[in-house]
Amino acid sequence: MSDGVETFTIRVIDLKQYVYCPRILYYQVVLPAVRPLTYKMEAGITAHQVEEGREKRRSLRSYGLADGECTFNVPLFSAALGLSGILDMVIETETELIPVDYKQSRKIGKHVKLQLMAYGRLLELAHPTGKPVQRGFLYLIPERKATAVPFTPSLRRQLNQAITGLQQIIWQQQMPAPAKQPAQCVDCEFRRFCNDVVT
Ligand code: SF4
Repeated sequence: MSDGVETFTIRVIDLKQYVYCPRILYYQVVLPAVRPLTYKMEAGITAHQVEEGREKRRSLRSYGLADGECTFNVPLFSAALGLSGILDMVIETETELIPVDYKQSRKIGKHVKLQLMAYGRLLELAHPTGKPVQRGFLYLIPERKATAVPFTPSLRRQLNQAITGLQQIIWQQQMPAPAKQPAQCVDCEFRRFCNDVVT
């Protein structure tokens, strides 16, 4: 096993690629130098920074909350899960901890719910107060709208399955099956490595 793989930790943002096509993560692990920071990624980072400034001026009424304390850019890590991430915001109320993830998107897909659940799980494991983490909010920047996502047993199960799948890719370095929909491969930056897909 190479040094690069020994030190590899799953990032919460990796769940996006995993849901889209698990093979993308495989390439990122075995070919870590091939993927540059794209313009879209840079634009997303800037949008998050702008949103953080707005959030500091915004009332918690956007989240249906009367009060709470907000902390921004919270680093989270669990050695047990081999998972890490930087959460955009945590709201701490008298009774609960609530993760908030900003998204540069107008829709809520499966992968963003899974990412939010992952932040919630990391918060549960990391926070010394032991307050429950039962829900999170996705804040859609273009819509300026917060949507609550309950952390249901089903969503928790989906996260566990995804983490297990990701761990298998990383530790066993087995190439997963290609994307289910060939149309996904047409504009994929890793297309040149996938000789078994027909597009
Ligand atoms: S080309 Fe298709 S199968 Fe290969 S990594 Fe991209 S999306 Fe996945």
